[in-house]
Amino acid sequence: MSDNRDMAELLFPNITKTPDDFEQEYPKRNLSDGARVTRFAPSPTGFLHMGSLFAALVAKRTAMADGGVFFLRIEDTDKKREVENGVSGMVNGLKDFGIEIDEGMLSETQSKGNYGPYVQSQRTPIYAAYVKDLVQKGLAYPCFMTEEEISGIRERQEAEKKLPGIYGEYAKYRDISYEEAKKRIDSGEEYVVRLHSHGKEDNKVAFDDLIKGRIEMPENILDVVLLKKDGTPTYHFAHAVDDHLMRTTDVTRGDEWISSTPIHLQLFSVLGFEVPRYAHIAPVQKEDAETGGKRKLSKRKDPEAAVDYYKEVGYPIEAVIEYLLTIANSNFEEWRMENRTAELDEFKFSLSKMSKAGALFDLVKLNDVSKNYISTLSAEEVFDLSTEWAKEYNPKLYECLTDNEEYAKSIFAIER
Ligand code: GLU
Repeated sequence: MSDNRDMAELLFPNITKTPDDFEQEYPKRNLSDGARVTRFAPSPTGFLHMGSLFAALVAKRTAMADGGVFFLRIEDTDKKREVENGVSGMVNGLKDFGIEIDEGMLSETQSKGNYGPYVQSQRTPIYAAYVKDLVQKGLAYPCFMTEEEISGIRERQEAEKKLPGIYGEYAKYRDISYEEAKKRIDSGEEYVVRLHSHGKEDNKVAFDDLIKGRIEMPENILDVVLLKKDGTPTYHFAHAVDDHLMRTTDVTRGDEWISSTPIHLQLFSVLGFEVPRYAHIAPVQKEDAETGGKRKLSKRKDPEAAVDYYKEVGYPIEAVIEYLLTIANSNFEEWRMENRTAELDEFKFSLSKMSKAGALFDLVKLNDVSKNYISTLSAEEVFDLSTEWAKEYNPKLYECLTDNEEYAKSIFAIER
């Protein structure tokens, strides 16, 4: 035990705060009954994909349904994915589509809310305090394996058809002594910090996904990395710490994370955190003209995958949101038919009404929804929206509209 304590001091000599301190700093939220806390947590790539906007809308609507909190957290632990002014790209993307945040990043540097910092790179001391605590409890350890050693192990595991990763007999540094770790660190060796997993190969874990239903999977047995060589956390670890301390109640995220959920359940458990509810969203798909099948909306192949496309082409924002709600919730269209003039905010969104397989994106249908939306506007409103759009994207049309305002309005009033 004292070995663990010495190890923790060796790895984190400057970390004096404890998990208890952070528990107090970020207390449980005072929420009314049924209110949910959700978040949108993009990497600051500067590019907002339609699939991400869809996920953000789902999170926002889930929080809105019962008067909860929706916040924006920037996940910038992967420096490779980052671009200059990437945060603004995400912030403005949400703003353009009227998705307001209650907390989180407002610009590259500004934020609002009491549960920040809302940028992961500014949370390093928080992650360190939690890892230090795990090391002290013998639940995490420094691992000095080199890239070559790890790829050697992977090759061996592939050849022997074994589960790839660092666990059991492959976890060479699991029981490293304080003396050996000190010697290696003093001689400048680099290391990551890994979880000491107590998972068992034959055990199963289960959770009730709010979209997909009950999911049962093998328990995690991997000694996953918690902190990388430069001290930044992995997605897994940051997810557990951040969503706990920011008091997220419902984690809505892409379904590519389902396979990692057993790792997350284990982390919540060893950290002593309550597990949030999960809702895994299938990717937004489209019909593929070439194959006749369905495929993910692709940034490379489909111009409509970029949210800027809708602004540039001139779709009214409300129509895009209305359309996204149509494909997000199976009962939306019916509601709209019964409530033709109701504000979008009056629709009560529900995760349980989402498609398990993924929403199907269809520009023809979007055009239809837009047409219907525009037909509810007055000639004045159509004129204002058109000139606003033309001012930025079609100066000639802008001139034409503004020079002939009355005439343009009379045209926009036809069939109304
Ligand atoms: N940064 C992660 C992603 O972009 C967030 C996933 C999540 O919402 O937890 O995939």
